[in-house]
Amino acid sequence: MGEPNHDECLEAVHRLYHFLDGELTSEKRLEISKHLDSCHPCLEAFDFEADLRHMLAAKCRDHVPETLRDRVAWALRHEQEADQHR
Ligand SMILES: [Zn+2]
Repeated sequence: MGEPNHDECLEAVHRLYHFLDGELTSEKRLEISKHLDSCHPCLEAFDFEADLRHMLAAKCRDHVPETLRDRVAWALRHEQEADQHR
């Protein structure tokens, strides 16, 4: 996973968990939604976290689902390939 490299990204990532937990004001949620619309890396991180939570909620926490392992492996491979093309 790449590190977010500017303030808006850090803000979005830091608030991700609160956003998903529904702990933010509608104003803050809107702010983050707007950032996600314009920032692809943050959107991907956000989607990933949301999926992860759904899976953890649906399955036992001690067991990592195979689909999740596959997805992490794919994401890492995909990121490495993207880096090589830069
Ligand atoms: Zn961002």
